[in-house]
Amino acid sequence: MIPTVLPTYNRAPLAFEKGSGAWLTTTDGRRFLDFGAGIAVNSLGHANPALIKALTDQAGAVWHVSNLYQIPAQQALADKLVEHTFADTVFFTNSGTEACELAVKMARKHFYDAGQPDRTDIITFSGSFHGRSSAGIAAAGSEKMTKGFGPLLPGFVHLDFGDHDALREAVKSPTVAAIMIEPVQGEGGIRPVPDQCLKGLRDLADEHGILLIFDEVQCGVGRTGKLFAHEWSGITPDIMMVAKGIGGGFPLGAVLATERAANGMTAGTHGSTYGGNPLGCAVGNAVMDIIADPAFLAEVNRKAALLRQKLEGLTAAHPGVFTGVRGSGLMLGLMCKATNTDIVKAGYDAGILTVPAADNVIRLLPPLNLTDDDIAAAADLLDKAASTI
Ligand code: PLP
Repeated sequence: MIPTVLPTYNRAPLAFEKGSGAWLTTTDGRRFLDFGAGIAVNSLGHANPALIKALTDQAGAVWHVSNLYQIPAQQALADKLVEHTFADTVFFTNSGTEACELAVKMARKHFYDAGQPDRTDIITFSGSFHGRSSAGIAAAGSEKMTKGFGPLLPGFVHLDFGDHDALREAVKSPTVAAIMIEPVQGEGGIRPVPDQCLKGLRDLADEHGILLIFDEVQCGVGRTGKLFAHEWSGITPDIMMVAKGIGGGFPLGAVLATERAANGMTAGTHGSTYGGNPLGCAVGNAVMDIIADPAFLAEVNRKAALLRQKLEGLTAAHPGVFTGVRGSGLMLGLMCKATNTDIVKAGYDAGILTVPAADNVIRLLPPLNLTDDDIAAAADLLDKAASTI
């Protein structure tokens, strides 16, 4: 008989019913240290009082009105995002996938309106992930995600991550509209793009009059120790997607853009019944109020350095299991010698949740407000897990 919930994910046999900070408790009372944070979503941990208050205050006021009307919480969040970034304008969605879809549409519309309707191609890179919609899987183009789903949408050019010669050649085509990249690849195995490469992309985009799109769905909102990952490089995109951490666990996404890139997005070009709804935006405002504070980000960087140091110690202690650490801020990857999914499983058995990624990496994406004790506990639990491999 077909299960009522089809196993499109490889689910662990763990059912959580409560959470607090970086910890989750199962229905049968076992506690787990959550170093996955719902895949970089629970940016401020579980049951965060400020987020609960924002959500319940809004829920007690008004849940939904639709984008046919002004939404004060949405306006406030857009103002905050613009205040803290390169962007002039913000479009709201419910998820990262929808944000990626919109970014692609926006780039193409920009050139259509500029009298260059043939500029429709989006350059993407191996290992990238932009969601599982039709455009998302066409953008990523990995057989794992596309097989069996019929013809891929046209209009995407796939290059190898780090192949600079191919990139320099590809941008010469008059059909290219944009380069789309994650400043730190998440699903691809926590691979940060070096600052000078982001600069190179910006220069190439400017030289050829094309747009630069950063997908910060996983690496944004304080995860790397800056509000957005690209800030480390000083390079700004024309369009940026945000989701996951901005909602702190509530479904919320956004596309941020410069006035120039967004100029084609007139009434009727983007719509979403729930995108930017009062509940999501109320939580988003609370998240931004906490994470955009420089003192909070300084703490993220301090804790990231501490965690990284512990992980390097762990790697040295278990050379048969781990080969190294990479990443940025609290978006860290343990490169594995043993099979990453076996280590994730050993982590469950020891009491810590981590997330596998491509390139035989396990991802550590803890809540950004974790404590020093949580870091010490993570090191102990991962050590325990590695000892069983
Ligand atoms: N883009 C990136 C970089 C992601 O990591 C993800 C999700 O993992 C997505 C897009 C899709 O976001 P969502 O799952 O919210 O639709």
